[in-house]
Amino acid sequence: MAADAPSPVPPSLGAASFSCPRCGAFADQSWFRVFAHWYDEKSPPKPLDVAILQFLEKDADEHPDEPMRRRLVERYRRRFEGDPVLIKLGESDNVRFRVDNVDLSRCRSCGEVSLWLCERVIFPESQIIVRPNPDMPGDVKADFNEAAGIVDRSTRGAAALLRLAIQKLCIQLGLPGKNLNRDIAALVARGLDQQIQMMLDAVRVIGNDSVHPGEIDMKDDRETALQLFFLVNEIVDEMISKPQRVKALYDRLPETKRQAIEQRDKPKLPPPTESE
Ligand SMILES: [Zn+2]
Repeated sequence: MAADAPSPVPPSLGAASFSCPRCGAFADQSWFRVFAHWYDEKSPPKPLDVAILQFLEKDADEHPDEPMRRRLVERYRRRFEGDPVLIKLGESDNVRFRVDNVDLSRCRSCGEVSLWLCERVIFPESQIIVRPNPDMPGDVKADFNEAAGIVDRSTRGAAALLRLAIQKLCIQLGLPGKNLNRDIAALVARGLDQQIQMMLDAVRVIGNDSVHPGEIDMKDDRETALQLFFLVNEIVDEMISKPQRVKALYDRLPETKRQAIEQRDKPKLPPPTESE
């Protein structure tokens, strides 16, 4: 959050460009009208089902020469993300109704869709542009997005959810996730960088004081709430994205070089004694 970042241009119905509610970039937008087609009575919409996803995946694996099956998997998988998705239909599809007062805008920067009702963006919920780090694990991201969805109405609720998000992140990192204070202490004992420890503790203490009577009053403190989103993204970057990037680069070193490095850094053990 650089101080000199250009201020966002709020989305407005029909505008050629604005700050995208999905990715935050100031970007050109394409507009779509919405049409409706009734479901066959025998096949109404169905709740999402992991078993169907697994079935589609197996089917696609068994027919690698038929890319359409793989596209079905990707399409079904996108539904789990809970986002509206545009699907191109054939010329012959007989669509019967137009949905008035509902529109879609698609960002030319990220390609994602926002859903409008009347003159208001109703998806994504938050007009505050906070996007989770793409490497954020799914359940952590769910709390992050929920926090982004309510921060306009409740800064305290958002702070509490972000605290929950880093608690879940600790579980992902192999900690018990029952007591955040203890989990952070365990990470420090493992050699956690002090900067990350400070970020984690800031989210922990501010999130805690938002729900329990404490010394920090988060009520209507939007600026601090936004800082917490930034911190959670930074924490994920430090603890997940950066190690992944470094590992990917390191794995590209030739095997012989890596072995030489391992040899160099091997602890020098005393010569082995006879085992019993
Ligand atoms: Zn975008």
